[in-house]
Amino acid sequence: MRSYVPAYELQEPRNLADALERMAREPSEWKPFAGGTDLMVLLEAGKLPHRKFLSIWKLPELHGIVVTPAHVTLNALTTYSEIRRHELLAREFPLLCRAAAETGSIATQNRGTLGGNIANASPAADSPPALLVYDAELELVSANGSRWVAYHGFWSGYKKIAMREDELIRGIRLPRNNGFSKEFYRKVGTRRAQAISKVCFAGTARMNAGRIVDVRISLGSVAPTVLRATETEKMLLGEKPVPATLQVAQRTLAREIAPIDDIRSTARYRLRVAQNLLAEFCESLAG
Ligand SMILES: Cc1cc2nc3c(=O)[nH]c(=O)nc-3n(C[C@H](O)[C@H](O)[C@H](O)COP(=O)(O)OP(=O)(O)OC[C@H]3O[C@@H](n4cnc5c(N)ncnc54)[C@H](O)[C@@H]3O)c2cc1C
Repeated sequence: MRSYVPAYELQEPRNLADALERMAREPSEWKPFAGGTDLMVLLEAGKLPHRKFLSIWKLPELHGIVVTPAHVTLNALTTYSEIRRHELLAREFPLLCRAAAETGSIATQNRGTLGGNIANASPAADSPPALLVYDAELELVSANGSRWVAYHGFWSGYKKIAMREDELIRGIRLPRNNGFSKEFYRKVGTRRAQAISKVCFAGTARMNAGRIVDVRISLGSVAPTVLRATETEKMLLGEKPVPATLQVAQRTLAREIAPIDDIRSTARYRLRVAQNLLAEFCESLAG
């Protein structure tokens, strides 16, 4: 059901400092508005209490991808299309490019931003699993300065993140030279495109003499937040990806996740798919 779009105020700050000052003065009043692909849906559905928005879309400080020898930093307004076109990201962070390619339609990819995806904090979002396995860090800025936080641990519950109302995400930093030789990403939805995830799985690993010497696993849509399956990771470390190991890993994963029944799927289906994707990932390690 479409409702009417309520009256709202959208202002364009002159620069980042101006945006942060306004947010510091009235922290719960101003809602940052980036690409608007999440916000417009909520606004139109009458589900957004805010009526005052700060358009950050044109702030140059929040655009661009910066590469240094140790890191790649994607500023918050980096769109999915920009991620998909970036050659170094395709080479070094293929799971992020894959997530970008699987997000919505081309129109959504042209407008939706990585910062917006993180701040919206949906447990069904597609880029967080990739960001988690790459050990992303976030730069949060406010009128009082800037702080870096690990993305792992940024979530405290359903749609709850460790960001204050006077803060903006400025950038997302990914450490380079991670040495992963195995990378796996699968989004399972109702259809191949334009679907919200029923389960999303990202995995990376390093192998030595057939054994797993480093492994990271992250899943979306199977808990109140996107999560790192740290117990499953620990269990797999040092093991060979053989069927007996996989069975233990699947049982460990079942204890770590908390899928629910909702309009998109059932808890039972999500658990089965999560375990099947773990099996696909482990088989890819053996190959
Ligand atoms: C048709 C359609 C299909 C979609 N498909 C997918 C999909 O397949 N997978 C998926 O993950 N998502 C999907 N989305 C959701 C959406 O496109 C993404 O979450 C997108 O990344 C949001 O970015 P945005 O810039 O549009 O955010 P906005 O709508 O502008 O903002 C979203 C939230 O983030 C806050 N915010 C934005 N930028 C910042 C910042 N820099 N600092 C602090 N807070 C900020 C806003 O205040 C708001 O609360 C879809 C949306 C639509 C409409």
